[in-house]
Amino acid sequence: MTRMIQCISPVDGRVYAERPALPPDAAQAAVARAQAAQAGWAARPLDERIACVKSGVAVLNTMKERAVEELAWQMGRPTRYGGEFGGVNERTDYMSGIAAEALAPQVIEDSNRFRRLLAREPVGVVFIVAPWNYPYLTAINTIVPALIAGNSVVLKHASQTLLVGERLAEAFHQGGVPEDVFQNVVLDHQTTEALIGARSFGFVNFTGSVGGGQAIERAAAGTFTATALELGGKDPGLVCADADLAAAIDGLMDGAMYNAGQCCCGIERIYVHERHYDAFVEGAVAWVEKLTLGNPFDAETTLGPMANARFARTVREQVAEAVAAGAKPLIDPARFPADDGGAYLAPQVLVDVDHSLRVMREESFGPVVGIMKVRDEDEAIGLMNDSPYGLTASIWTADPERAERIGARLQTGTVFQNRCDYLDPALCWTGCKDTGRGAALSTLGYHSVTRPKSYHLKKVTQ
Ligand code: NAP
Repeated sequence: MTRMIQCISPVDGRVYAERPALPPDAAQAAVARAQAAQAGWAARPLDERIACVKSGVAVLNTMKERAVEELAWQMGRPTRYGGEFGGVNERTDYMSGIAAEALAPQVIEDSNRFRRLLAREPVGVVFIVAPWNYPYLTAINTIVPALIAGNSVVLKHASQTLLVGERLAEAFHQGGVPEDVFQNVVLDHQTTEALIGARSFGFVNFTGSVGGGQAIERAAAGTFTATALELGGKDPGLVCADADLAAAIDGLMDGAMYNAGQCCCGIERIYVHERHYDAFVEGAVAWVEKLTLGNPFDAETTLGPMANARFARTVREQVAEAVAAGAKPLIDPARFPADDGGAYLAPQVLVDVDHSLRVMREESFGPVVGIMKVRDEDEAIGLMNDSPYGLTASIWTADPERAERIGARLQTGTVFQNRCDYLDPALCWTGCKDTGRGAALSTLGYHSVTRPKSYHLKKVTQ
């Protein structure tokens, strides 16, 4: 029997979209078409591939209104935030701009006797398994460099954002990318893993949970398929004694609450120097109390429902456990009457927390943050590193040397000073520990979707 993949809308709990999962033989056939189409795509000049990709993204921009409405239905993001187009365009432009240089062969020697060079060639078919929380951005990070580098792409999007893959496929096809070169497929986990296990792909980019990443790594075991596993986070913020307090409150609380806290690099725990602690906590509470929880289609809503009632349940459980263990919740849920005990969840700020609590150790992925007082840099660094994750860390200080010095001691993929929750396409997006491994965006992003090939050409016979 055909299995249906469903998107249950967090807005009203109804089935918003459903599609049949591809049966295994149809999924294999899609991969075979991608494999067959790849050489022709790679043979087209780089400029042509870039033009098709850019024109696909331009088409996507024309779908903005529809995409924003669909995002609200699928994952609850308030329409006032206008989708993910700023980041999609910025990343596409940057990755297009550096492509020629990033993909150019490195000539080691070109003399009368030898031509030696280090080239990069496409890996073949790139498989992207994408999450729902930033469904366009996370997918575009790999789609753009993969296509530009001459690969075919097979995209399997999250069930929660079932329609996003369809929009991307429509846009890229209209932009001139051949249908077999970019395919959106609806797959269940079993078929996804079976395709990987059958060595169907040259590279797999998985963005999602730690458990999902482990399943993908297991599926790829023994196939030697290159995998990037971009997984969860529990990102810390640090407010130093010399920080601009108002900027720190605004930046870190936005990092904690934007997208209902459903950002891999959202701020989930904050350490504040004792000098600023009381004022920071007071400011953080005032900041959160200004949020309006509600229907994502209402113009005044700044905090939508979480993408799924089960995600909100996890956050509720973490908060309840913390409070039972002595943590103090500073936000009165009565201020957020839209909290329905389901996907609509009042935000929370917790103090009197420590690292014995799940809310300070496990990814919450919701609108909750714990705040702790610290005496000095050493204590802060110890706490920031006391985590199974390592995606980003945000340091608020007036002193760039301090930020770099602290950053050098942190187990993290990215160090921010006086900002957070942002991907710079010129820098490598990466993580360590349970956040997995991978290198997206930047010139290194092109290395992920290509493999090195060495040419050692001796022009003379003696
Ligand atoms: P998820 O449940 O792991 O799902 C991610 C994707 O993988 C979905 O397409 C999902 O399909 C698929 N999937 C999950 N388990 C699978 C399995 N065993 N076999 C095959 N496919 C599988 O994660 P999510 O809830 O969508 O995303 C939230 C997580 O992603 C958070 O932990 C967040 O921190 C992380 N994330 C990390 C980054 C980063 O850059 N490091 C960026 C964004 C998000 P279905 O939807 O059909 O289950």
